[in-house]
Amino acid sequence: MTRALLLNADWSPLHFISDVKAVILVYKGRAEVISCSGDGQLSLWDTDFTSAGPVLGQDPVRHEVPATLRLLNQVKKKWKAPRFRKKVLFNRDDWSCQYCGKQLSWDSVTIDHVMPSSRGGQTTWLNCVTACKQCNKHKANKTPEEAEMRLRKTPAVPNSLHFWDAMRSNVSHPDWDMFITK
Ligand SMILES: [Zn+2]
Repeated sequence: MTRALLLNADWSPLHFISDVKAVILVYKGRAEVISCSGDGQLSLWDTDFTSAGPVLGQDPVRHEVPATLRLLNQVKKKWKAPRFRKKVLFNRDDWSCQYCGKQLSWDSVTIDHVMPSSRGGQTTWLNCVTACKQCNKHKANKTPEEAEMRLRKTPAVPNSLHFWDAMRSNVSHPDWDMFITK
């Protein structure tokens, strides 16, 4: 199954949805196709299509699978901080150690609890930072003050871009960049 990026009527990104849902939105006249995935076509008669919504009795029209589509009517959307995810945290910190500034990758990145978890520190956006293994080991069971280490910036709730980038890590389409990096 491919994914499609659903945009609000004002072109801001809303969700990633399944190809079947995308075609149904277009079929019901609720969204317009902005670009297609090039992954062929879906028919109203396809089994995965009909299982997603009762559309029997219609002509077997085939629809290009959308990659990006836009709702025709604006829906209200509240930005809610996503639940804690490692990749979003690393994106927020630009994959750099928040103590020494070293650039990190999946092989070298660790999560540091500013207030150590052994002392009640929670795994939250405000208590976690990206750290290299050396700094994490050096800081150990101490607070930054006790370890005499300075955080490069105060941990904050990630914004929607940190989140979107992590959400689409397994799927991509060249057209999405201009909407997601807005
Ligand atoms: Zn470091």
